[in-house]
Amino acid sequence: MISELVLCVVEEKNPEFWRAQAQTTLKSALSRKLNTNVAKNIVLFLGDGMGITTITAARILKGQLENQTGEETVMTMDTFPYVGLAKVYSVDFQIPDSAATATAYLCGVKTNLNMVGLSAAAQNGVCRTQKGNEVTSILKWAKDAGKSVGVVTTTRVQHWYSDADMPASAKRDGCTDIAAQLINNTDIDVVIGGGRKYMTPKGTVDPEYPLDRSSLGKRQDNRNLIDEWISMKKEKVAHYVWNKKEFDAVDPETTDYLMALFEPGDMRYEVERDPLMDPSIIETTEKAIRILQKNPKGFFLLVEGGRIDQGHHASRASMALHEAVALDNAVARSLQLTNEDETLTIVTADHSHSLSFNGYPFRGNSILGKSPLYGQDLLPYTTLMYGNGPGHKIIDNKRPDIRSNKTESRLGPNVMETESRLSPSECEPDSKLGPNETETKSRSRPK
Ligand SMILES: [Zn+2]
Repeated sequence: MISELVLCVVEEKNPEFWRAQAQTTLKSALSRKLNTNVAKNIVLFLGDGMGITTITAARILKGQLENQTGEETVMTMDTFPYVGLAKVYSVDFQIPDSAATATAYLCGVKTNLNMVGLSAAAQNGVCRTQKGNEVTSILKWAKDAGKSVGVVTTTRVQHWYSDADMPASAKRDGCTDIAAQLINNTDIDVVIGGGRKYMTPKGTVDPEYPLDRSSLGKRQDNRNLIDEWISMKKEKVAHYVWNKKEFDAVDPETTDYLMALFEPGDMRYEVERDPLMDPSIIETTEKAIRILQKNPKGFFLLVEGGRIDQGHHASRASMALHEAVALDNAVARSLQLTNEDETLTIVTADHSHSLSFNGYPFRGNSILGKSPLYGQDLLPYTTLMYGNGPGHKIIDNKRPDIRSNKTESRLGPNVMETESRLSPSECEPDSKLGPNETETKSRSRPK
C-alpha cells in the first residue's frame, strides 16, 4: 500500500497530470458519437439501496481490494457516458421503499409505499383495492414485443412472500402471494436467486440443509411451485437447479427456461459465499445473458444486487460494499457479453441509505477503518457512519471507545438506534451506456 501511495502521489504532484487527465476526459466526451440505434436488448442493473455514498465507498473498496489506495479507482459503472439523477419519493411518503421504487423503475409509475405493481389508487395493506389498479411492467412490454426476459438477484426471488406470510384478509379477498405470482404472471424465461422454501409445501425438507428447521418449505396451500413451473414448461427445454454443479451443467445454447434457487431464503453475502455451492452474481448474470440473447428479437434482463440494502439495514457496511463491488464486476462481465450498438445498459439504485462518509481519513486509509483524528471527546470514530440503525450506544454520556474494535465487520456509531436501518430518499444516480431509446424512438419514426 505504501509504495502504491508513493507512486500515486509522485505523479499527482505534477499539475500537468491533472490537466492531461481533464483533457482526456473532455476529448473523449466531445468525440463520442450519439448512439441513435433502437435498443434491441436492455440490461438493467439495480443496486438495492446503492446511494451515492455507497457507490463512492464501494469504489474505494474496489481499489483497495486490488492493493491500490482506492480513491482514484474507476468502477465499470463510472465509465458509462451518460449520468443522471432521479427523484425517488413515493406518492404517499417522503421516502420510498423497494416495492414502490420497483413499480417506478419497472412499470414507469410512482405509487404508495410498500406497493408493487399497483398504482397509487390502490391502498397499502388492503388487498381488495388492487383489482383494476394493476399496472403492467417492462417485463410484459418486452414479452409482447417477442423478447425474452430474465430476473437475476442475490436475495429471494419472491422477496419475500409465500402464502403463509399473507394476512387472512388478503386471502379472503382472493389475493395471491408473490411466489405464486412469479410463476403465474408474466412468463419469465430466466429466474435466478434464492428462495426455495417459499415455493414448496410446508415442512418440505431442503436439499441443502436437511436438518435446518428454518429452511423447511413454508407453503400452507401445499402447492409445489417448482414442480408446477417445470410441468408448465414441458414443451420447452426448462431446467430447475439449486446448486453450482447443476448450474454449471446448464448449457445456455440448448436452454429455453432456467429457474435457479440457490438458497432456502436469500443467497449468501458475496464474502460468505461457498463458491462450490453457489455461483457469484457475475456467473449468474453471464448465464442469464447467454440464455436470453439467443432470441433474435432481443431481451430484457434485470440484475439486482439485492443484498447491498440488507448489509446496510444491519449496519454491516463491509457486506454492503462488497456486494456493490460484485455488482460492478457483473456490469463489466455484461458489457463483455453484449454489444453497445444494440444493447442499452443501465446501472441505478432504487433508494439510498443513511450511510455517511466523513472525518479526515488519510489517502489510502481503509474505507472500513477509523479516522486518524479523534473527536472532541478524545475518542476515535469510523470513516463510514450510519445515521440510524442497530449499533448505537451511549454509556455514561460517552460514545463507546472503538480503538480496539475491528470495524471491518460492523460499524458502531449511529445517530439514532432503530431495529433496522431506515431508507432515506436521496436522488439516485443512473448511468447509461448504449442506445438512447427515447431519443431513438422519435428519430426512427417516419416523418
Ligand atoms: Zn430497495
